[in-house]
Amino acid sequence: MQKIKDLSIRTKIIFLIVVISIINTIIASVIYYRTDKKIYNREISEKLLILSKVIGDSNSATILFNDKKSAKEYMSTLKVEKSVEKASIILPDSSIFVSYDKNGVASEMNYPLPLKTDTVLFLAENIIANIPVIFKNDTTAYIRIKYNLDELKVKQDNYFKVIAIILVLTVIIAFILAYFFQKIITQHIFHLHKLMNKISSTKDFSVRSVNNSKDEIGSLSTGFNEMLEQIEKQNNELKRSKQMAEVSLKAKERFLANTTHELRTPLSSIVGITSLLDETPLNDEQKQFLKNIKLSSDHLLSVINDLLEFSKLGSKKLQFEKKKFNIRQSIERLYNSMHYEFQRKNLDFSSDINDNIPQIVIGDDYRLNQIFINLVGNALKFTPQGSIEVYVKKIFENELIIDLEFRIKDTGIGIEKEKQDAIFESFTQENNGTTRKYGGTGLGLAITKQLIELQGGKIRIESEKGKGSTFIFNIPYSKIIVPQVIDNDALNAMSDINILLVDDNPMNLMFTISVLKKGKFKVETAINGLDALKKLSNSDFDIVLCDLHMPEMDGYGLATKIRADGSNKIKNIPIIAVTAAATIDEINRCFNVGMNDYLIKPFEREDLISKVLYLTKKTKNTDND
Ligand code: ADP
Repeated sequence: MQKIKDLSIRTKIIFLIVVISIINTIIASVIYYRTDKKIYNREISEKLLILSKVIGDSNSATILFNDKKSAKEYMSTLKVEKSVEKASIILPDSSIFVSYDKNGVASEMNYPLPLKTDTVLFLAENIIANIPVIFKNDTTAYIRIKYNLDELKVKQDNYFKVIAIILVLTVIIAFILAYFFQKIITQHIFHLHKLMNKISSTKDFSVRSVNNSKDEIGSLSTGFNEMLEQIEKQNNELKRSKQMAEVSLKAKERFLANTTHELRTPLSSIVGITSLLDETPLNDEQKQFLKNIKLSSDHLLSVINDLLEFSKLGSKKLQFEKKKFNIRQSIERLYNSMHYEFQRKNLDFSSDINDNIPQIVIGDDYRLNQIFINLVGNALKFTPQGSIEVYVKKIFENELIIDLEFRIKDTGIGIEKEKQDAIFESFTQENNGTTRKYGGTGLGLAITKQLIELQGGKIRIESEKGKGSTFIFNIPYSKIIVPQVIDNDALNAMSDINILLVDDNPMNLMFTISVLKKGKFKVETAINGLDALKKLSNSDFDIVLCDLHMPEMDGYGLATKIRADGSNKIKNIPIIAVTAAATIDEINRCFNVGMNDYLIKPFEREDLISKVLYLTKKTKNTDND
């Protein structure tokens, strides 16, 4: 059924017309056949009746005078009737007076026929007639005739031959007519179809369908044109809005950059001069004024920095570093930079970093510090008494990634349940009184949230009004892979390693090839997953380096196909994903489809070489096992 559905409209119409014509011809033939058979049966019945009557009438004297000789002679004239097999004149006492047999074999016709009336019986092989001979109101004898069906069979054979010829002619004529008439319907549909293909390949929405017919296809064509018109109009509007948005975004960025620069320059002078002034002899009142100026200018500077950061986040210009750093040192540095504040507010600080967390991880230390400063800064600001605690623990780990969870817990004023989601939005504070009492712009948490999410993490809050708040966030960091020492042995090994590099971007290919060639590896390239599969089946490779996002077949598709390889030739080949997207979801997906490792662009040459050496050595060893 699905196969019929998938046929083209042209084929469907032709098929339909031909099938309907065949069905019609068959129905007409059956009806004709049945009617014709009825007529034939009636004619035969009449013929047999007349024949019996003639035999009866002609033999009434012979029966009366028991003249069997003349009766037999008469009966032998039945030879001319080819279809009469047997004929008998039977006396009322059921004895046979005379009988005739076409083949000269005298035998009985044992049919239990009622002898009193005219009867014609149609049997499977022949027809039997039994007709009484009446003479002066008395039944003097019965004529019984066995009639064969040869005539009918010939008639039927001829009939079926004619039907077969009619059917063949019907198919041919119906096909030819359907082929020409289907065009009346399909040409417009094909025209629309062609137009649609053209539009989807050229993206040119200015073309229109030409069809003046008033039928459904005509209105489909009109609807299609109207739709195209709308799309074209919307496209133009979108283009215009996009251009305008780009222009205004550029203007906004320029404005923000200029304004913050303009604001920072005099502000740094104010901060600088305030420090200079602080070193001059001043009376107590002047010192207090100076302290206020310093507080205000520091605050202003932090607001400007927030705004600048926010504009960078908005325009997605932020880049995250992938550098080694020590989490414990980061937290120590955080406390050092804030311990005066802790002392001033008489708050306790404690931190607990789980022992199973490695000393060094790879990620952006500067951004982590920025997140800490925002969250611990808030905790300091909103905690009048008590303590602030920082906890770090591991929530996920695999060969390459360690996902760390950070908790910053304070015993401060807390946040109402209903406000807990809103405080992560930009320019939002718990209530209008917050700025008056604590200052701030309402941007800190919005920035923090984005910084965390852009690194593949999430942030949430647990808080109770009046009892304190805990901000919980996680960031997945890369783990350190002990780099392979590139000694002479390693260098020799490299020249034996065949790498298939898969990437659709020529610039990326050029860069990676140059890195790999420096390492003396043998490199071949493929421009997408399909191309890579072709190359893998044609020659032997030791490892595949592949980009994730490519047309036709992406990196995930390629890895899935390789790992499902039935021939086992490439099933176990190591695969390294090379990607610019470093979210934990993407990386997990790489491992889920069977990749062995990943590299984040831009990568360090040593990283690439050591991963390739490590993985190829590993599979070579397992091959030997
Ligand atoms: P800002 O601190 O500049 O106002 P944030 O985005 O950092 O902006 O914070 C938004 C709001 O969330 C704050 O104004 C405050 O109402 C609430 N908030 C943030 N951290 C805490 C905390 N630790 N305890 C209580 N309220 C907090």
